[in-house]
Amino acid sequence: MSTTTAIRTAVVTGASSGIGAATARQLAAAGYHVVLTARRKDRIEALAAEITAAGHSAAVHALDVTDRAAVDAFAASLDRYPSVDVLVNNAGGALGVDPVATGDPADWRTMYETNVIGTLNVTQALLPAITASGDGTVVVLSSTAGHATYEGGAGYVAAKNGARVLAETLRLELVGRPVRVIEIAPGLVKTEEFATTRFRGDTERAAKVYEGVAAPLTADDVAETVTWAVTRPSHVNIDLLVVRPRAQASNTKLHREL
Ligand code: NAP
Repeated sequence: MSTTTAIRTAVVTGASSGIGAATARQLAAAGYHVVLTARRKDRIEALAAEITAAGHSAAVHALDVTDRAAVDAFAASLDRYPSVDVLVNNAGGALGVDPVATGDPADWRTMYETNVIGTLNVTQALLPAITASGDGTVVVLSSTAGHATYEGGAGYVAAKNGARVLAETLRLELVGRPVRVIEIAPGLVKTEEFATTRFRGDTERAAKVYEGVAAPLTADDVAETVTWAVTRPSHVNIDLLVVRPRAQASNTKLHREL
């Protein structure tokens, strides 16, 4: 008698850089067929080619997570796979470090749209398929910003609190169904674009975020925690995993060797 292992599919949003790209690489290496999504198609195509060249399996779909019609069309396109097993809601980020007194409401809206509504859109659209897989997993990349505030962080902190609450509530609502809901909350991670996006392309200012910090987390460090949580036995739900570099004791306590 021959046994076959069904191909399991993992969707990663924001797979064009940083944590999303590293997570896609690691889930592919763990045996998942990975579907890479982000707005920049050239970058996810290059990553899919790299993953395929390494002998793993990947596909791409350009997607803005804030565009619900596009998200619904993407979800419909996934019916070509035998199952949709894992969703990693990673697309997101921060804009600015302005105090509440002067923060731009447009920045707050963009952060809420991307980190919260984007996560809501993709989770809602894929949930029927993830549930139908019989052993599904939804991951939400929140942040330590979703757990404690800091000066200049209110817009991002508010948005990541939204993402955290979405994950916590979804876990309550889905109990009894075959879906795990996992929140990963990283602290300081040095990725190629996060701080540069936050400071609107000001690379000097972005570099100062990590200045003197001996070893901030890397995208690979966080991707390892995601992959570890996802690959636990299906009855094991890692509700929340907070991960920081050793040099960071809280959002406001960072050791710099200057
Ligand atoms: P990053 O390198 O800036 O990556 C952000 C990703 O999100 C990119 O792939 C970007 O792709 C995608 N994205 C942004 N807006 C999108 C949209 N509207 N639709 C679809 N994709 C969108 O940042 P990162 O450091 O890897 O962060 C990844 C996640 O971890 C974010 O949710 C971030 O908030 C969270 N996080 C980061 C840190 C940190 O210190 N770096 C700490 C805690 C949590 P496109 O531009 O190609 O669409």
